[in-house]
Amino acid sequence: MQNYIAKFINNMNQIKEKKAATMYENVMQQYEQVANFIELNHNIKKILGITNNEIVVNFPVKMDNGEVKIFTGYRVQHNNALGPYKGGLRYHPTIDVNDARALAMWMTWKTSLAGLPFGGAKGGIQLDPRDHSLAELERITRRFTYALGENIGPDQDIPAPDVNTNPQTMAWILDTYMSTKSPSSRSLNSHVVTGKPVGSGGLEGRDRATGFGVFLCIKLYLASQGESLSGKTFIVQGFGNVGQWASHFMVEEGARMIAVQDAHATLYHAKGIDPAALQLHSAPRKGSIAGFTGAEEIDPSTFFGLACDILIPAALGNQIHLDNAGSIEARLIAEGANGPITKDGEEILLERNIPIIPDILCNSGGVIGSYFEWLQNRHGEIWSLEEVMQKIEKKLTENYRKVEGAVQEHGVDWRMAAYLIAIKRIELAYTQRGIFP
Ligand code: GLU
Repeated sequence: MQNYIAKFINNMNQIKEKKAATMYENVMQQYEQVANFIELNHNIKKILGITNNEIVVNFPVKMDNGEVKIFTGYRVQHNNALGPYKGGLRYHPTIDVNDARALAMWMTWKTSLAGLPFGGAKGGIQLDPRDHSLAELERITRRFTYALGENIGPDQDIPAPDVNTNPQTMAWILDTYMSTKSPSSRSLNSHVVTGKPVGSGGLEGRDRATGFGVFLCIKLYLASQGESLSGKTFIVQGFGNVGQWASHFMVEEGARMIAVQDAHATLYHAKGIDPAALQLHSAPRKGSIAGFTGAEEIDPSTFFGLACDILIPAALGNQIHLDNAGSIEARLIAEGANGPITKDGEEILLERNIPIIPDILCNSGGVIGSYFEWLQNRHGEIWSLEEVMQKIEKKLTENYRKVEGAVQEHGVDWRMAAYLIAIKRIELAYTQRGIFP
């Protein structure tokens, strides 16, 4: 029996490692392809091909039942040539150093493409938040923050929400970080994290910024084809912050959400699912959409093959791959998640002429919002929702146009265009400054 369990655990570990390696492999393959295309300086290629720092912390936390449990947390800092490291923290059973590496690298490209004064990082804790009470999550978050110590900071590395973390998580990080400072400098540190609740220095509109950006990119793309969102059908994978807000804006503009999938259920309704009603249903159920009566539950394996105009993957990485890319019926894919399509999946989609608005552009509304929050805190200002949304729209539209221009100029796909702008900007910074010493 014991042998059997050991073998099972070993198999599970192998499966997990294979999956994690695939996401990292994906980002490295993309990097290699772009570096060759732009003939990236070979020395700079070496620098951007590795991560600057990889912090792994094991820390103890007392559970509600008095038992002490050890957790493993990560923060991978890929590159800070353009400014302090920036990127989210995710709480998920599958996060590990390999995933964090891939996600940190994507953050470097994202902030560079967005024209922000930030580098890239990502991290998180290996856990399933559904297994913990709010009090436990608070203690875990605070102890993780304490363990990270000076590896984070308003001018060093600025975390933000990501999968399964939210403004409350950021408020705990902020409070813990500030509490370790001397009283006179505490209030100077509110921009150590972004995505905070509005009452704690957060930015009006940061909650919807990522989903709004996804919607805006889709709208701009359709407009360039002489089309609008009115009457279009879309399907969404993931009904977290990004999926909820993207579908909200899409429906507001006249599109119809005909299917939505999360880890618990896949829902379909040809006449359209109401995102507001679904959100009211899922919120008290730890985010699960299962059991919603405003749609029919269907077989999860049929999701990607549903006929629709737009597909928004807004869950985890590597969801669209060799085995399912061929079945996708959507006319456009807008990446709300980070890395939802593997390299081989993408090749199939491009061959089939299905355009993909890549994650580093499509979901960059979030980090653009984060930048405004950071600025607002730095300057001691408070901006209105209207002002923030206008700023995000302006910045993202400019970035969208840059990528659109590069697609036309170089005759490449959208991901390649976005990457080449992002990487060239960092290359220029290194070329101008040289390498110390
Ligand atoms: N986690 C988000 C992302 O992947 C936001 C990062 C941030 O605002 O720093 O882009």
